[in-house]
Amino acid sequence: MAYKTWETEKTQFCDHVKAMVGLEAEAVYPPEWLPDQAPRLIAHRCSMGAVCSLSDKGSCVWAGTNPAFDPFIEPDVEKS
Ligand code: SF4
Repeated sequence: MAYKTWETEKTQFCDHVKAMVGLEAEAVYPPEWLPDQAPRLIAHRCSMGAVCSLSDKGSCVWAGTNPAFDPFIEPDVEKS
């Protein structure tokens, strides 16, 4: 039987909540009779997103209050 689970892909400090937060992905694993298939990722969320979205300040895409800012995206590093 296939099963779903939330897995943490990345953790980092978030200034908005002043705490470590995790970027989580919901993975669907295939049933045991299809063992060679990779899990499918069907959703992402921040571990503090629900709490964060209740604040009165716009925060980030994972709280649903600021689609223009994703703190988990790596900044481009200039090559010198
Ligand atoms: S939803 Fe965004 S702003 Fe809020 S805690 Fe998570 S990463 Fe930080």
